[in-house]
Amino acid sequence: MSFSLLGLQPAILQAVEQAGYTQPTPIQQQAIPAVLAGRDLLAAAQTGTGKTAGFVLPILQKLSQTKSRHPRPTRALILTPTRELAAQIGEQITKYSKLLDPKLKHLVVFGGVNINPQMMALRGGVDILTATPGRLLDLIGQNAVKINEVEILVLDEADRMLDMGFIRDIQKILNLLPKIRQNLLFSATFDNEIKQLTNKLLKDPLMINVAPQNSTAEKIEQKVYHVSKGQKTGALITLIEQNNWQQVLVFMATKHEANRLTEKLEAAGISAAAIHGNKSQNARTAALAGFKNNSVRVLVASDVAARGIDIAELPFVVNFALPRSAADYVHRIGRTGRAGKAGLAVSLVCPDEMPQLKQVEKLIGMKIPVAELSGIVSNAPNDHDLTVRPPRPPRPQHKKPAGANAQATARSGQTANGEKPATGQRPGRSPQANGNQSNNGGGNRANHGKPAPRRSENSAQGQHSSGQRRSDQSGASTAHRAAKPAASQA
Ligand code: AMP
Repeated sequence: MSFSLLGLQPAILQAVEQAGYTQPTPIQQQAIPAVLAGRDLLAAAQTGTGKTAGFVLPILQKLSQTKSRHPRPTRALILTPTRELAAQIGEQITKYSKLLDPKLKHLVVFGGVNINPQMMALRGGVDILTATPGRLLDLIGQNAVKINEVEILVLDEADRMLDMGFIRDIQKILNLLPKIRQNLLFSATFDNEIKQLTNKLLKDPLMINVAPQNSTAEKIEQKVYHVSKGQKTGALITLIEQNNWQQVLVFMATKHEANRLTEKLEAAGISAAAIHGNKSQNARTAALAGFKNNSVRVLVASDVAARGIDIAELPFVVNFALPRSAADYVHRIGRTGRAGKAGLAVSLVCPDEMPQLKQVEKLIGMKIPVAELSGIVSNAPNDHDLTVRPPRPPRPQHKKPAGANAQATARSGQTANGEKPATGQRPGRSPQANGNQSNNGGGNRANHGKPAPRRSENSAQGQHSSGQRRSDQSGASTAHRAAKPAASQA
């Protein structure tokens, strides 16, 4: 299905195309037409499903169809539990609305930062306000914003907002909203408290239930092992052997590394097969069949190849290297814990990858617990050569001056075993080959992933008991910078 069939206007379709999306996700296919038609929505969907665009795109379309007044009343209000999520939504609004003419104004506000810039940014009004509940009430209390003309209300991650103790704040906010409005509610779980809220809030909602296959479903246990680059293969072999893992899907950064790791696992007596874009379809099918029938214990994969892998009850996923895009982490670990079964997703993280780990944790809204690995097998092959490209093969020696053929061979970048380097890798370099191979001091850094002190979005108001589950806010300052307190022209 194409985005163009969803009834969106050209400026939005073009922005979506520029974002690189080729087709709408399942939730977008259902949500976008329904929101455009004015229906209330009750969606069971988590991060990673594309839910944000599912509500942002039709909201942009609806708001841009009527001229803004001055001062602009807030016409769409998006409530989220955490500042990270608020900032992410703000970034997506900016991305999808950049080609709209006339422009829409949007703003992200959350607690824990100075309120004054937010009050300034609200002067003149904004069309779309993304807010955490406590800060929104503060701003309303200061007369900085009114919400009595809101046409569309979004409650994102409603279950988390309730878990974090925002129910009273939400109720206060609901009382200030106009009676007639459209309501869109997103939640991963539906316990009694959420059901009460939805019954009160939604009128004849369209129910959407998106299987949590791409989400960090709660059944998936996640762990991070801090290791140095040179310890990764040893750590993987240790984990597989110590825990007697039988069906393990391992993600690699490049095709070349997938091949090399496969050889090393085989050398260590662990049956393994690589699956990636440079393998023939036959080789891929055989690798997958072997993995499914347990004759192959470890499948070593690239991201793209792994998208199509659907194995019921796949128990273990390992990120040998963290993906460049945090969203891919969610896709990767969604390979395990399927169909409600328990699963374990392990990431081997070296010091260079800490920024990626932070991005992942920001996206999934939690700190991934750090585990200790003792007794990494000492005779494990050092994987120095997995993170540094192997040396170029010697140039062919010709008696005559090198002719056209010899130059062509050198240019083609063939490696010793006849493979072309994986896409994105220049011969002789790897993304990690930046000179800190000897940095073993970063291995097993027990404190590295220690959760930062947690605070709730409006902890200044002292509304939360310490026992309540809260989302980690450690990325707040980054998120805040990213979201800029000033109202941005959407
Ligand atoms: P969300 O579930 O809204 O947090 O989105 C997860 C990720 O999917 C974000 O990085 C989005 O940019 C991305 N995304 C949203 N819609 C699409 C789409 N139709 N195709 C590919 N990626 C998408």
